[in-house]
Amino acid sequence: MFEQVKLDYNYYDLEPYIDTLTMETHYGKHHASYTKNFNEAVEKAGLFGKTVEEILSTLNNIPDVDLRTSLQNNGGGYYNHNLYFSIMGPKKDTKASSILEEAIKRDFGSFENLIETLQSLALGQFGSGWAFLSVDKNGKLYATKSPNQDNPFMEEGAHTPILCIDVWEHAYYLKYKNLRGDYIKNFLSILDWEKVSENYKNVIDSK
Ligand code: MN
Repeated sequence: MFEQVKLDYNYYDLEPYIDTLTMETHYGKHHASYTKNFNEAVEKAGLFGKTVEEILSTLNNIPDVDLRTSLQNNGGGYYNHNLYFSIMGPKKDTKASSILEEAIKRDFGSFENLIETLQSLALGQFGSGWAFLSVDKNGKLYATKSPNQDNPFMEEGAHTPILCIDVWEHAYYLKYKNLRGDYIKNFLSILDWEKVSENYKNVIDSK
């Protein structure tokens, strides 16, 4: 059984950047439902015992189109939200580790450039979707956006995301209405770079 990531903060801890009702609905309803539907699809497809990463990077092996779509949408939704909720937190002014900072400078020129790139991808995603910072098989960082619940594991090469920004309206509409840019800016204030740095280290160590 796949389970939702446990939060190490309370729903209200991210106020005023992310409001309590959005957290309750997003984690307690949307993410819960992706998780439930993903578990059902995994059972139907006989994929029990596989990791979510394995499932998302081998979707083309599923011949049944409806089942494949369900695994893509719900598996992506399950994975993306686990990452999203695990990199948020109430700590202020967290910093990237020195190895992540060096990698950011190497691949984006500067930390500010990375932030601008992520903001512009997240703002530019037409309709529902995500922006990601990922690590490729050579350890290089790169940023992408994707529609719906798609993620970098579904791309050629199955890259590993270490940071994501949810730009589905359910992530911000209750508080920010149509102002996606304000939400993105505020999301970046509660993004915990220590957690992103841990994710980066885990990917690099596993290579
Ligand atoms: Mn969401």
